[in-house]
Amino acid sequence: MKKHQYLICSLAVVTALAGCQQESEDVAEKQQAAEAASTQVDTKEVVVSKVEQEEVRKAHNPIDDHTYGNLHEVDLKHLDLDLTVDFEAKSLKGYVDLSFDRLQDEVSELILDTRDINVSKVELNQNEQWVAGEFELAEKDEVMGSKLTIQLEDGVNKVRVYYATQPQASGLQWLTPEQTDGKKHPFMYSQAQAIHARSFVPVQDSPAVRITYNATIRTPKELLAVMSAHNEPDTELDGEYHFEMPQAIPTYLIAIGVGDLKFKAMSDRTGVYAEPAILDAAVAEFDDTEDMVKVTEDLYGPYRWGRYDLLILPPAFPYGGMENPRLSFITPTVIAGDKSLVNLIAHELAHSWSGNLVTNANWHDFWLNEGFTSYVENRIMEELFGRERALMEQSLAVQDLRQAVQDLPEEYTVLNVDLKGADPDDAFSTVPYTKGQMFLVWLEEKFGREVFDAFLVKYFDHFAFQSITTEQFKAYLKENLLNKHPDIVSEEEINTWIHEPMLPEMMPNPTSDAFNIVDAKTKQLLSGEITLAELGTKEWTVHEWLHFINNLPTNMSNDDMMAMDAEFKLTESTNNEIAHAWLLLSLRSGYEVVMPRLENYLISIGRRKLIVPLYKQLMETEQGAEFAKRVYKVARPGYHPLAQATLDEVVK
Ligand SMILES: [Zn+2]
Repeated sequence: MKKHQYLICSLAVVTALAGCQQESEDVAEKQQAAEAASTQVDTKEVVVSKVEQEEVRKAHNPIDDHTYGNLHEVDLKHLDLDLTVDFEAKSLKGYVDLSFDRLQDEVSELILDTRDINVSKVELNQNEQWVAGEFELAEKDEVMGSKLTIQLEDGVNKVRVYYATQPQASGLQWLTPEQTDGKKHPFMYSQAQAIHARSFVPVQDSPAVRITYNATIRTPKELLAVMSAHNEPDTELDGEYHFEMPQAIPTYLIAIGVGDLKFKAMSDRTGVYAEPAILDAAVAEFDDTEDMVKVTEDLYGPYRWGRYDLLILPPAFPYGGMENPRLSFITPTVIAGDKSLVNLIAHELAHSWSGNLVTNANWHDFWLNEGFTSYVENRIMEELFGRERALMEQSLAVQDLRQAVQDLPEEYTVLNVDLKGADPDDAFSTVPYTKGQMFLVWLEEKFGREVFDAFLVKYFDHFAFQSITTEQFKAYLKENLLNKHPDIVSEEEINTWIHEPMLPEMMPNPTSDAFNIVDAKTKQLLSGEITLAELGTKEWTVHEWLHFINNLPTNMSNDDMMAMDAEFKLTESTNNEIAHAWLLLSLRSGYEVVMPRLENYLISIGRRKLIVPLYKQLMETEQGAEFAKRVYKVARPGYHPLAQATLDEVVK
């Protein structure tokens, strides 16, 4: 019907009226945008403006199948939060004002996502007055949560929802004082990605939605609240904190942390928030952060978010880090004392360009966030720590990837994965990260670094503060890289990378000279040509250790394991990655000396990457399963709901 309108309008072009011309352009834009977002149509135009973006959303409802939100009718713009942090009740209580534009003339409802949220009252803002509104909270769906439908009156563009979160909110973790470093104060933090913002804010919970927000957060007086917003470094403790996030972010980047937090600056624009006991260690570990920001700006254009601070969370944090804008959330498990694991900071910082600035429009496109970020992370590491270290980190990641694709359902090895009906958390793997990274490394090798870097600078700028689909990326890539440098890469190859399962033949295989030496020495060791002392480990980096342990045979004898342990004190390693690799090898080889250390490790850390493989390995044997069940019972209350959900499926 709209196409028909357009034709009539075009025929009347001779006597074109301004209004009609406007209409014709609108329709043409809609078509272009819809074509760019469609999988079959090969469009010449690339989606550029925010207006066109909204057209894509209108044309494709829903663009995101993990939200109930009526994105095609309502464009959510801004949130005002007023919340009290109640540690006793493990609840955030208060209200959120949602301001929005209407995308269509007739809009009768505002549909939001919630999960395990009690809604007590809804009000509509009518002529600057708050009046009672009608709402309905639907039955809970296990993946999606509960749809909240609010009836809109004419002219209403702002709605207030009074609510309280429930203690089991999937996006919050409430820690008792005993679960913190200081043991004196409780701690609470959020983790909204992928679809958990809805468990602490009623919202259209989709990465296709971009909002600004203001917040007032009330806490016990002795605690500090921080958010993914502007945080004033010298904030005084008074139990009431105000935040402003002026840049439009996707809802999964709404974030809050509350605890006994102290701040220490690392530079004018970078600093660390942490519990007092680990603040100095964290600052020492991460004091390259300012340099990281600088080299990333040199590579990919200005950092556009003001400050870049780090919040160090308790060890129960289920991820390595979370790229909450202006304030990355970081696991303390990477504070190794030697900066050996700081690529995590490079990763979270890189998201300030890939992910936070240019965002995946839905979770099928997650590789656009993580593949680009893993690539940028490695480039930052290369700039700061040299090519050899960057290659070692690539090589370790690819070894993990090769292992992971063997264990995953084949459909989850596709970059542009189909998640319809699935929980995005269930499909979480290294594939969008490292396969995505290797795709970009491959492009870099094909076009040369200079050309590819220039392309990325333009890409980040072009789509800044927008949420895009894989198809939009492909259209942009074709227009700005493939067509400009013809006969280097075919569209077929691009499609193989993005849409085919498993790992393509053309995937680069990063090797490092240092690892080649480790491999040669390991071979000599295993054949008895050299002794442990002759292995030459004195100058080894953590990466070489990881490569060495990861590539040892899994049928090592107890005598060999014991000898190695005596020589290198691996069971007692304080580097959490080395300890993880060694504990895993020990389980596979049946080296039981490690069991007390393993128990302690599993109880004290909640980072899924480090603990889930160990539990899985334990479940392989009857004796191991017994051990896993016993330890999990003790450890589970200290784990984050996300880790609990993963492990409940493993340890049973
Ligand atoms: Zn990431």
